[in-house]
Amino acid sequence: MTTAVQCVYCERFTLRHHHTAMAAQGLGRCALMTDRPASFVSPLWRRSCATYQPASAAKAEARIEWLRDLRGEGA
Ligand code: SF4
Repeated sequence: MTTAVQCVYCERFTLRHHHTAMAAQGLGRCALMTDRPASFVSPLWRRSCATYQPASAAKAEARIEWLRDLRGEGA
């Protein structure tokens, strides 16, 4: 059984893609979705993913901070 993960903590995830309107909605891309150019992943959705690769804590925190700012949830 695969443990649930969140893309925001994965090395393969990015919010820096060229679909800026989708990024502005907080949707990211998975580096493994090369055959699906119009597919996006939610950063916080809990999913089973066999190809999850942990990102550094600093990278994940920077993304979370960016998403927090996007949603106007700043402290
Ligand atoms: S490899 Fe899995 S967890 Fe990582 S970004 Fe892609 S879909 Fe998300």
